[in-house]
Amino acid sequence: MKKLISSSSIVDIAHYRNLLSSEGIETFVRNEHLGSIVGEIPFSEVWPELWVVNDLDYDRARQLIDGSVVEESPKAPWRCASCGTENEGQFAACWSCGTHHA
Ligand SMILES: [Zn+2]
Repeated sequence: MKKLISSSSIVDIAHYRNLLSSEGIETFVRNEHLGSIVGEIPFSEVWPELWVVNDLDYDRARQLIDGSVVEESPKAPWRCASCGTENEGQFAACWSCGTHHA
């Protein structure tokens, strides 16, 4: 098992956990329920932590987490199935004939 990230926000941790789970990567959260004892031990030690269960998944999990932070990459251009016109990725319909991109 390897630790992926820790965050003061359980919401962030849950977001990453969902992301990885949707990719079939098994994770678990440590310190998820320790909020109630903040004050008894130093705060930084009770941040929720996201761990990957299988070390072999670590690199991929790391990439997914890093990838989810950066801006979405521009969509690839597509060719209209109806008239063959090349369209920019951000257009949902062909500029030439109006056919919607599947
Ligand atoms: Zn078209």
